[in-house]
Amino acid sequence: METQENRRRDDLAVQPKLIIHGGAGSSLKSKGGVEAVRKSLYPIVEEVYALLQSGASANQAVVLGCQMLEDDPCFNAGTGSVLQSDGQIRMSASLMDGKNQSFSGVINVSRVRNPIDLAQFLQTSPDRVLSDYGSAELARELQIPSYNGLTEVRLQEWIQERQDNFKRTMAGVVAEQDLISTSSARRGTIGVVALDKYGRLSAGTSTGGKGFERIGRVSDSAMPAGNYATQYAAVSCTGIGEDIIDECLAARIVVRVTDGMSLNEAMQRTFKEASERNRDFGAIALDANGAIAWGKTSQALLAAYHTGEKIGDTVEIPVGTEIGWLDS
Ligand code: ASP
Repeated sequence: METQENRRRDDLAVQPKLIIHGGAGSSLKSKGGVEAVRKSLYPIVEEVYALLQSGASANQAVVLGCQMLEDDPCFNAGTGSVLQSDGQIRMSASLMDGKNQSFSGVINVSRVRNPIDLAQFLQTSPDRVLSDYGSAELARELQIPSYNGLTEVRLQEWIQERQDNFKRTMAGVVAEQDLISTSSARRGTIGVVALDKYGRLSAGTSTGGKGFERIGRVSDSAMPAGNYATQYAAVSCTGIGEDIIDECLAARIVVRVTDGMSLNEAMQRTFKEASERNRDFGAIALDANGAIAWGKTSQALLAAYHTGEKIGDTVEIPVGTEIGWLDS
C-alpha cells in the first residue's frame, strides 16, 4: 500500500548507483579471461541494479550482489574459494550499513555457502563480528545446511602450490583453468557497494583469503580496513590484505570523504600515498551524491558498475596505479 511516508520518500528519490568487484591482482592472461570475467560480472550488475531500482535498500542490494558473486566459482569467495596452506577453505565476509554506520562480519568460517548471510544476520545482533568457532555455532543455530565450496580448479591449484612449497604469495585472482601453471602472484575476492533510491549507502566484501596462508591468518575483508561505510561514502577493497590493513584503506577513504574531501580527491590522495609505499591492492567506492570511483595499485582490478544510464567496467584498464571516477 502506498503510504504518505513512501510518497514523500519517492519525491526525494535519487538515482541508485552500483559498483562491484571480483578481485585485484595481475592482469588477466587472455582475452578469453577478460570476456569470461565480463560474462560473470555484467548479469550480476544488471540484476542487483534492478533490485535497487525497485526500491530495495542498499543493504539488500549488497547482500544479493555478494551472494551471486560468492556463488560464481570463478571468484575467490564462497564456491571457488582458494585453499589455505593446510588445504582447507576458510572464508571471511562483512557488511557495513552506511546509514546506521554499523559493521558486522564473520572471520574464517567453513562449510557455508554464503558467508555474507551470516554477516547480514549479525547486523542486528549485539555481538557483530564472530570468528571461526562462533561463526560455525551461528550457522548451526540458524540451521544453515553444511556446504562444500571446493572446486576442482582450486584443488589443482593447491596441489601444484604444495609441490612448489607454497612459493606464490597469493592464489589466482579468478579460477581460470589455464592459469593453474602461472607462477605470478594473482588474487581475488568479491565486493559490492550500493547507493539506494533513498540515498543510503552500503558495502559488502567476501573472500576465501589470500590462498595458501597460515592457519588462523585474518583477512582484511572482515575488518573496517577492507570494508567501510558512513552516510557519506562506502568502500570495498581487494588485494594483499596486509597492505590494506597497513593503509586502513576503506576507512581512510571513507573518513576523508566524511570530513569533507570529495570522493575523487580522497581516492587520489589515498592511492598516491599507497603507491609511494608499494602497496598491492584495489578499491571500489561510491559517495552519497552518486559519484562512482575505483582505484588500484595492482596490475588489474576486476570491477563493473551501473550509473543508471550505462554499465561499464575496469577489466582492461592499464597496468600501474590508476584512479577512475564518474561524477554523479
Ligand atoms: N584481501 C583479501 C585477503 O587478503 C584477498 C583478496 O582481496 O584477494 O584476504
